[in-house]
Amino acid sequence: MGLRKNRIVVKVGTSTLTNEIGNSNLRKFEDLALILSDIHNMGNEVVLVSSGAIAVGIQKMHLKEKPAELRMKQAAAAVGQCENMFLYDKFFGYYNKIVAQILLNADDMVVEEKKENLANTMEALLEQGIIPIVNENDSVSYNEIESEEKIFGDNDMLSAVVAILCKADKLVILSDIDGFYDKDPRLSKSAKLISRVEKIDDSTYALAGGAGSRRGTGGMKTKLQAADLATAQGIDVIVTNGKNPKVLYDIINGEKVGTLFVAQK
Ligand code: ADP
Repeated sequence: MGLRKNRIVVKVGTSTLTNEIGNSNLRKFEDLALILSDIHNMGNEVVLVSSGAIAVGIQKMHLKEKPAELRMKQAAAAVGQCENMFLYDKFFGYYNKIVAQILLNADDMVVEEKKENLANTMEALLEQGIIPIVNENDSVSYNEIESEEKIFGDNDMLSAVVAILCKADKLVILSDIDGFYDKDPRLSKSAKLISRVEKIDDSTYALAGGAGSRRGTGGMKTKLQAADLATAQGIDVIVTNGKNPKVLYDIINGEKVGTLFVAQK
């Protein structure tokens, strides 16, 4: 074991946190809480970037369909965020962990003073052994939810920004697919997993198709953009499947899982 503890940011998407009918996938919440608590117990610092608020809010409010109006989507985000944090608080609480909610807007990241405050808050939480749980502040901002494509929010870029802000060693993006392939595996049976990407360039972007699953968000493109941003700042990025969060143990042990985008410095 190295001298320095691993600081790991884990991003989990709506498709992992909800089931086919859009309800909370309780087992997934519980598995994540157990595994991340265990990884924390091993001496690692953990930040969770979690989506899923609007989808859960829609179910909880018994809305018949996805609302078209922005204000209703934002209302659903407020309800769902509360529900998600309740579940996290409860499940992490089983393992004696304290969680904290951080809600961010894109513009919080450009104002230097806000950025500094946020970095200090994150540092204070991590120092106290607390697990911060971050989401886009969907009830205030509309960047993430304004387009139909992104109705369930897309925190890929947010997770990269958070990883940079808290100087993480690793960013793990848990998706609905095993990693980055040489073409979209949902469209082509012959697609092959690329287990290591040394450098992201135009030829890498050319392999990423558009948005993927029904409940998913930006597809591989936003994951590549996130990996591009974080690897440029010296952070290893791993994209892998969230269906079995136990792979997080392998990642901590430096084993080959999904696709590793190698840190550039
Ligand atoms: P999430 O909810 O995890 O953010 P998304 O649905 O947004 O998931 O993104 C993952 C999807 O991206 C995959 O299910 C797949 O259909 C699509 N995709 C497009 N191009 C690729 C590629 N080259 N490799 C892997 N997946 C790809």
